[in-house]
Amino acid sequence: MAENTQGTRPRIFASPGRYVQGRDALARLGELLAPLGRRPLLLADDTVRGLTEPVLGPAFDKAGLPLVFERFEGLPTRAEIERVARVLSEGDHDVVVGLGGGTAIDTAKAAGEDAGVPWVSAATVASTDAPTSALSVVYTEDGGFESYRFYDRNPALVVVDTGFVAAAPARFLAAGVGDALATWIEARAVERAHAENMVGGVPTRSGTALARLSWDILWESAPAALEAVEHDLVTPDVEAVVEANTLLSGLGFESGGLAAAHAVHDGLTAVEQTHHLAHGEKVNIGSLTQLVLEGAPAGEVDRFAEFTAGLGLPTTLTEAGLGDADDATLDTVVAAATAPEETIHNLA
Ligand SMILES: [Zn+2]
Repeated sequence: MAENTQGTRPRIFASPGRYVQGRDALARLGELLAPLGRRPLLLADDTVRGLTEPVLGPAFDKAGLPLVFERFEGLPTRAEIERVARVLSEGDHDVVVGLGGGTAIDTAKAAGEDAGVPWVSAATVASTDAPTSALSVVYTEDGGFESYRFYDRNPALVVVDTGFVAAAPARFLAAGVGDALATWIEARAVERAHAENMVGGVPTRSGTALARLSWDILWESAPAALEAVEHDLVTPDVEAVVEANTLLSGLGFESGGLAAAHAVHDGLTAVEQTHHLAHGEKVNIGSLTQLVLEGAPAGEVDRFAEFTAGLGLPTTLTEAGLGDADDATLDTVVAAATAPEETIHNLA
């Protein structure tokens, strides 16, 4: 019966239109955007705007595009998405660029969808795998996970500037590694269970294989890459880890599927004690939880905990702010992690 059902479900793979990664990639954003629209709107917080405006000014001049920023208020909430969609419509913008990290990028996707214009991800950090995907994580006003929003298209363009990634705090890149390591742990669980990926199909071999490639690169290159970005250096290891965190993990989670690690992450966001952690840091707690739920050999769990602790990622509930949490707090996390719509149910 299960085999019959599987036979009727299509294999689906999704990807952005184009992916451009490298040092000084943002200096090419104008020319890359020009074919997509003539009135772009850039959504960025004040910090990211301050860092990127000196590069983007000349780039947009050269491409003959106006440089128009809209200030991102910090969280992809329903209200913030509505506000940005209104700015897009009222300003007659024909393309929106999420500039910075995952939350600005996810907001740009949602607002672009609502305003009916294409969206572009321009990443200055490699802290999540949000830039390539056709979904946004929507948050409540107080910073908890609210829901996923899915779209029938991916970003038209993804640009990642590794010079900015290397200059950003190393903790951001480490968080991206935490997010990306989960991708293989979750994709292989989805494959085993013949469950669905994030684009409404069963995974293609390629989706699952890209998740695995991300994992292999990270075990090989993440320690050296983190060492390099401590000194603001862009090395081959940094380029490899940025690709693993952004492109491979992005394609891998979306087309390979999610399972318990991200559901546990979503559960952790339900209590404010964990709000000091970045997305990928909470996901790392989720990866360890999933390995234990799957009954992984103790040696494998230990190796994963040691490797990720060495990268500065949290591996204990104490580090997650829950060391002395009461039962009610933990019940809140568990209830959110196991909600009916959660991907934890993709575990065999
Ligand atoms: Zn993630």
